[in-house]
Formats: sequence, structure tokens, C-alpha cells
Amino acid sequence: MSRSNKYLSVETKYIFVTGGVASSLGKGIISSSLARLLLSRGYRVTIQKFDPYINIDSGTLNPYEHGECYVTVDGHEADLDLGHYERFTDIKTTRNNNLTAGRIYQAVINKERRGDYLGKTIQIIPHITDEIKRNIKSLGTKGRYDFVITEIGGTVGDIESTPFLEAVRQLKWELGRNALSLHLTYVPYLEAAKELKTKPTQHSVKQLQAIGIQPDILVLRTEKDIPTSMRRKVAQFCNVAPDAVIQSLDANSIYKVPMMMHEQHLDDLVLRLTGTESKGVADYAAWNEFLRKLDSSTRVVTIGLVGKYVELQDAYKSINESLIQAATYCHHKLNLVYIHSEKLNEENVDERLSDMDGIVVAPGFGQRGVEGKFIALKWCRENDIPTFGICLGMQCMVIEFARNELGLTDANSTEMDPHTPYNVIDLMEEQKSVSNMGGSMRLGAYECWLDPDSTPAKAYGQQIIKERHRHRFEFNNEFLDRFERAGMKCVGENPETGLVEVIEIPSLSWYVGTQYHPEYQSTVLHPNPLFLSFVKAAIKYQEKKDGID
Ligand code: GLN
Repeated sequence: MSRSNKYLSVETKYIFVTGGVASSLGKGIISSSLARLLLSRGYRVTIQKFDPYINIDSGTLNPYEHGECYVTVDGHEADLDLGHYERFTDIKTTRNNNLTAGRIYQAVINKERRGDYLGKTIQIIPHITDEIKRNIKSLGTKGRYDFVITEIGGTVGDIESTPFLEAVRQLKWELGRNALSLHLTYVPYLEAAKELKTKPTQHSVKQLQAIGIQPDILVLRTEKDIPTSMRRKVAQFCNVAPDAVIQSLDANSIYKVPMMMHEQHLDDLVLRLTGTESKGVADYAAWNEFLRKLDSSTRVVTIGLVGKYVELQDAYKSINESLIQAATYCHHKLNLVYIHSEKLNEENVDERLSDMDGIVVAPGFGQRGVEGKFIALKWCRENDIPTFGICLGMQCMVIEFARNELGLTDANSTEMDPHTPYNVIDLMEEQKSVSNMGGSMRLGAYECWLDPDSTPAKAYGQQIIKERHRHRFEFNNEFLDRFERAGMKCVGENPETGLVEVIEIPSLSWYVGTQYHPEYQSTVLHPNPLFLSFVKAAIKYQEKKDGID
């Protein structure tokens, strides 16, 4: 046993998920699906992602670059795959579950400056690779988990991924049977030739082998069913057992992938290859019940999502998924319509919004598109359609109300207009001294006390909740009385600071804005109560519109 093995629990198994041929094949979904299956079989599992880019975290990334920034309970600004992990598994991830090359290098450079390396020349191997290994193995210490699943971002062959793959190679060697490599590739279908092609997979595996990693399991992403004979051929070319070549056919819902993997015995395979004792019966009932609802719902609920990143669906990933989950639990299919806030004006708002059953106004930063959000919100308020404002969406609800109901023309957030005469949304006191942009917002889970008579309190079924945040600006409490007298109430606040967390117009059927992001805490097995309540209200609104009521 090598020296570093002394840090490991003998029981912990490490599964490394890599990808080849192309990006966006769904490594996050495969990793999450495997985690789901192992959890359902009674194992303790955690799941982690390494992102090979140099940013310290994804908080400073524009959504156009990398989609949504997901926030963990401990306030880490994470890659959106962490959202998949949580939605599939109910595991609460932390900053230890998502590391970037930037953070690894920063840790090594800090140690070098402290003198920890005692005069040594600092190199990618062994110093960077050791730091990567340390972060993988630290999850497995003290026997906390039976399985640590580690997803390596990027594609085999990328320059950036190389140190991570080298660390995986070393770990596989050190851990022996306690480590497993799962490689996800793509098998394209050539329409002109009417053929599936496995050559890119063979090349990708060769590239992995050249790095020194022999994959144990291959998952082939495909749009067409791959015949057994072809899978056998891949197995033969790639030194993989025939039953360890699994296909991942395109599915109409990502939530079907775990059971698709189970049908091909991926979980059994992992247990067999890692020499893990089977725990007996597995429990997939709740998951299958969700899938049954997903497939059997025929009625449709139409939700409009007003935001400025509508060309890029990943920008609002967690909101999309929360709405799908809520609609499914309400036995409806979700029809999500993206409404570009920059293109909304007084003339077209009625036409754009009137077919909706409910409106979500999205989070965001900066001036672009906010005027369209105000126009949408005025229309929503006047037409009493269920409306849900999230973070910037909630702040826009406040500004629109100030301008049109309190007569505070030019009311604004100081984010958009630092010289507004009515700063109804203002920079938080603690933010005034912040100069570094990275990781410096109000981040992570905070407690919120709800007014017992409010819609949110009824939705959650409790008065004290904890939800996650990502913002620098807040409701300006100097204006609170005026808002409340005019009918917009603060119905949720932080018990320590008095920060307004939730606003509601109780005279309307469902008009709620949250400073927090409930979408970060909605999973397949535990959909967020506020999304459920909102979708129920949207269905009721639709039924009333259609005269069913
Ligand atoms: N830009 C706003 C703030 O920083 C809202 C942030 C958000 O929507 N996540 O307060």
C-alpha cells in the first residue's frame, strides 16, 4: 500500500467520470444518475466536480460563458452541474464539492509563499497533482462515504484537463480496485450513410489510455440505439468488458437517465468492479413515482420567464428545473416560454403575456433589460396573474410598485441608477467596503422568518425557513411603511438584520417576490414549496380563464 493510502478509509471507493469526443454530452447527468442509483441502494455517496478553468469559482463568469451560477448552502458560487447533483441526489453540496484549476493553483501558490515546500521547485507534477489528489481524498476521509464520485470537467485532450487526468491516473494506480474510471463518449449517427460511428470513441479511449488511464466503464451517448454487436466491438477495441459498454440514448427528460442506466446494470457493474458488497434490495419507488407523473400528465401549464438571457437556456437552469418539478407534482406538463425583457414594451406586453398562466421574473445584474421587467410587472399586477419575482425580479417588483403606486417617479435601485432620488433598493451596508468582485456578495443559506398569514408561510407550512442567496442590494427599510400602507407587504425577513427577504401584495391572488433564490433548493424528491404553490396558483388561474372553475 502506498504512503498516501493511509488517509483513506478502506471502504471508500472513488469513481472518476471523464468525457471525450465532444463537450456537453452530459457527464454531470451521468454522474448524478450514478449517485442517485447508489444512494437508492443504501450507500453513502458524495459527488464532486473539478473545473479546469483558471477562475477561482464560477461567480465571476458571465452566464453566456458557462450558464447559471449555482450557489451551495455554504455560499460557494459553483458550476451548474452542482445543481444537477443536488436535484438528483438531495445531497447538500459545499465548496469542497466544486474546485477549479484556479483554486488548486491558488492553494499551491499560497503554500509556496508560506514556505511549506522547504525550497523545492514547484511543479505541476507532483505539487499541483498532489493538491488535486488531496482534494479528492479529503472527501473520503473518516469513512464518511462509501462512494466519492469525481467528475473531471472538459474533454480528454484539452490542455487544461491534463493535470487532473494525471491525478486520476496516479489515484487509480494507488487505489487499485477502490478506484474506477467511467468514460463518457459520443457515437454520432451519420444520416447520409445511415450509420452509427464508433471511431471517435475508439480515438477518445486511445487518448485516455495514452495518458495512462484504462477506462473500466464506457458510456456512449447516442441519438440511436447502438446494436449489441457494435457495443461488443467497442469493448474489444477498448479493453473493456462487454457488459461495461453502456449506451445513453437521448431521453425526453434528464430524470429518466438514472433508470435507463439501472436497466443496463450500471449500479451492479460499479459494485462488481469495485468489489463492493451488495446491500440487498434497492428503493427506487419515489423516483419512479415522479417519472410516472412526468409521463402521465397530459394537461399543460404555461409559464412565462421574463429575463435577458433567454437565448441561453442554461442561464436559468435551476428555475427551469424547479418549474418542471413543481408542474410534475401538480400533474401538469410545463410549457416554459422565454420572454426577452429587452424586447418588451408598452405596445407588445399584452400580446406577449396574455397567453401565460403565470409569470416568473428572473434574477440578474445590471441595467440591461430591467425596464422590460417593470413593464411586465405592471401588466402582471394590473391583470392579477400569478407572479413570482426572484432576487432582481423581487427588486423590480418593489421599484415598479414605487413608481406606479407610490408616485415615486424615477425610483430605482442604486445598482441601476446611483443617483436615484428614491433608492428603494440600495446597496447593503456590508457591501459598501467591498472592492473585490469575486465571492463577495451575500451568499449562501440564511434564515428567514415568515408572516404566518402570508402565502409563503402557507406554502412552506412553517414560519422559519432557510434559503440561499446571491446579491449585493436589498430593500431599503426607510421606505417600508409607505409600501405597506399602499398594500405591498414585507412578509419575510432575516431575524438578525431585518433585511426584507419576501414581499407580497396580499390583495392579489399570488404576487410574491423573494430576495433569496428558492430554485437552488428544489429537487426531484423534494420540490421547493414556493414553486409548488406558484404553479398551483397558475393552474387555478388557467382554469378560471378557461371557465372550468
Ligand atoms: N443585482 C441584484 C443584487 O445584486 C440581484 C442579484 C440577483 O438577482 N441574483 O442585489
